[in-house]
Amino acid sequence: MTKFTDLNLNPKVLKAIEEAGYETPTPIQEGAIPPALEGRDVLGIAQTGTGKTASFTLPMITLLARGRARARMPRSLVLCPTRELAAQVAENFDTYTKHLKLTKALLIGGVSFKEQEALIDRGVDVLIATPGRLLDHFERGKLLLTGVQIMVVDEADRMLDMGFIPDIERIFSLTPFTRQTLFFSATMAPEIERITDTFLSAPARIEVARQATASETIEQGVVMVKGRRRDREGSTKRKVLRALIDAEGDKCTNAIIFCNRKTDVDITAKSLKKYGYNAAPIHGDLDQSQRMKTLDGFRDGSVRLLVASDVAARGLDIPSVSHVFNFDVPSHPEDYVHRIGRTGRAGREGKAITICSARDEKALDAIEKLIQKEIPRLDNPVQAEPAEAEDKKPEKKSRASTRKDEGKKDKPAKDAASTDKPAKEKRGRGRGRRDEGGPAVVGMGDHLPSFIALSFDERRAG
Ligand code: AMP
Repeated sequence: MTKFTDLNLNPKVLKAIEEAGYETPTPIQEGAIPPALEGRDVLGIAQTGTGKTASFTLPMITLLARGRARARMPRSLVLCPTRELAAQVAENFDTYTKHLKLTKALLIGGVSFKEQEALIDRGVDVLIATPGRLLDHFERGKLLLTGVQIMVVDEADRMLDMGFIPDIERIFSLTPFTRQTLFFSATMAPEIERITDTFLSAPARIEVARQATASETIEQGVVMVKGRRRDREGSTKRKVLRALIDAEGDKCTNAIIFCNRKTDVDITAKSLKKYGYNAAPIHGDLDQSQRMKTLDGFRDGSVRLLVASDVAARGLDIPSVSHVFNFDVPSHPEDYVHRIGRTGRAGREGKAITICSARDEKALDAIEKLIQKEIPRLDNPVQAEPAEAEDKKPEKKSRASTRKDEGKKDKPAKDAASTDKPAKEKRGRGRGRRDEGGPAVVGMGDHLPSFIALSFDERRAG
């Protein structure tokens, strides 16, 4: 078995690794570190949780330990799709450079240009940035990329999803042709292949097992939510979500709840809070300090339920999540793999439950094809609940009532307390707001459906 000491890393880096408590390199580290240290380009096909960050930071630090930074000319560049991921990479650098004198700057939105410019002016060894912010700095004329010897692109597939590929191409063209490139992506979409063919030179290609194959410790399940009323779908799903969380009880120490849309992230978090759950949203439209605060809270346990969009959650290093709930079936099957990979990490047990409405069934099929496994169907915990009964009632709803109103509709109004039933479907904005300040109802109220007393396995069997 390869040991870190076999990898030719700088002794001071090895000391930091030992202090971090790592015993052996992960497969991506074992595969990527030797060619990176030889100065070769690397194409790493790996996702978060595999140790991929250290697979590029450790050789970079070793290579950069010799030499000095010049003003405004960073020696290396790491591009990340999101601020959070960039901040995490920066933390990794701090951990592994603690016995060395390397300087770094983090260029992300939400932080003042002045502060960042002062750092760049002094000269940095490592510049970690999101593409947009990096180009903003470049355009201000305060930054030269002609000194970049090593360039890393992290989570390239996410960059593609976020529309950053033109920025990445531009940044590549601003760096010297002779640079070394370390490029990471969880998947190899044709567009990513095109970029690597264009900008990487005879890369060492290292592919590590997809998390789906390594996730035997994750218990998966899906709840099918039927109903003809699309306008009621959101509130029905929120009701199912609450019932699922309640059914897990204390076993659900913390969870990430994924939604496909930012608006649903907000609505779901708000709704959970109203019902007395400890929940907070995270998505790209929230400001940086807010996102950091939420993440810190989730890491230290003061936030139990993190409601997230894929983009915001991507690459976050959150060590132990007991549960993942998919409020929506993700439309890209790979995202399902990323999402559920947030639980059951490092051999721990985890549970991932997906809520699937009729229109998401196609997406569910695609996921099952990808993971080559049927996800067990679970009983719908609120099948016989009023939401379904109401489903049958004729609806006299004005067109003006949009999805936005849904967050208000399923609030725990006083008149709904005993059944956890949404307030009598109040129409119109004014009335919808009236009860917002009302007392939160925790859990299912007095009426406890029998399924809740059953364990996950019993319900699945039943
Ligand atoms: P990453 O895939 O880079 O997000 O890393 C996932 C987690 O694995 C992080 O918490 C790292 O600190 C941790 N990690 C990275 N390399 C190792 C290693 N060789 N042994 C144990 N843990 C590691």
